[in-house]
Amino acid sequence: MRHLIAELEQLAEWLESRGHPQYRLQQIKHWLFAGRARDFDEMTDLPRRFRAELAEEFELNRSQIARHDIAGDGTEKLLLKLFDGQHIECVLLRDGQRLTICVSSQVGCAMGCVFCASGLDGVERNLTSGEIIEQMLHLQRLLPEDQRLSHIVMMGMGEPLANLDAVLPALDVAASSAGLGISPRRITISTVGIPAAILRLANQSRSFNLAVSLHAPDDALRNELVPVNRNIGIRAILDAADRYFDVSGRRLTFEYVLLAGVNDSPKHARQLAQLLRGRCLLLNVIPYNPVAGLPYHTPSATAIHRFRAELERGGIPIRFRQRKGNRINAACGQLRRIVQSPPANRIQAGPSA
Ligand code: SAH
Repeated sequence: MRHLIAELEQLAEWLESRGHPQYRLQQIKHWLFAGRARDFDEMTDLPRRFRAELAEEFELNRSQIARHDIAGDGTEKLLLKLFDGQHIECVLLRDGQRLTICVSSQVGCAMGCVFCASGLDGVERNLTSGEIIEQMLHLQRLLPEDQRLSHIVMMGMGEPLANLDAVLPALDVAASSAGLGISPRRITISTVGIPAAILRLANQSRSFNLAVSLHAPDDALRNELVPVNRNIGIRAILDAADRYFDVSGRRLTFEYVLLAGVNDSPKHARQLAQLLRGRCLLLNVIPYNPVAGLPYHTPSATAIHRFRAELERGGIPIRFRQRKGNRINAACGQLRRIVQSPPANRIQAGPSA
């Protein structure tokens, strides 16, 4: 069976080959993105026979909600089961009027950041653009009818720049007016920092926001925390990010996960200020979200305060990301591990759930 969402571009051809009018395409898109239809039968202004024909050729949903958790702060997390039995996670975050979804790009991750749950078992496979769009649709259906998604962050499982061929078409659908109508300026691609892919993105002339996960002010420490850095180096990443800024005009974001006793000293903060100075940027500091079984900890309030003060003194615009949805393991591939890991690990992961 063909996956409708992945083949919206090819649908015109199919309609023609079956002798259906082209305006059906607009109707279908409208039902999917504005009407939030769950299946073809909800598309009530399409002729019944046409709906049956669609259902014979196409599947509308290729993923099922395997688990739905809601935190006290309104954060909702979905664990989706894909057609091949793999699981991915995606999250809806509420912050006043701001309704942000956090979407995955791969099953697992190959980058191996030592503090992150998503990459602990490596990467299984890339998601298709259809599977990426489907996460958006599942999350949108969680909203009351009068609310619309406002922002997208590619900060779920996986490395989006390692799967650009699927990520870009999916984001184009999200940005198009016949799709979700979310401006590219409200869409952020978060990356471990792959210079060639950042340059490729720069050449696409789409104005998505770029967020670079830095986590360390020098290569020695970054090589430990983000092993792929050994073959890349901070310099090359900053050069590519600067180029992205030159071309897109979009303020750069740098992310920095604060790990107690590892990268959170005032000295690290001073080095970081030195490294980033002179750019149009926002530094997004994320106090570590503990992952069961990993030896890292969230810094104390005092350490966080000192780190912040030092960067502010260095003139770096800084934002501390609020930790949302902790109680539902909303961060970073944690839920999938609980579901997919063998029983022994499951017990280990239990207390943090
Ligand atoms: N691969 C991409 C996007 C996915 S992760 C990237 O590296 O940017 C999104 C962000 O969450 C990254 O900055 C990542 O380092 C961070 N992150 C991963 N595990 C975390 C944890 N346990 N606590 C806090 N942030 C974490």
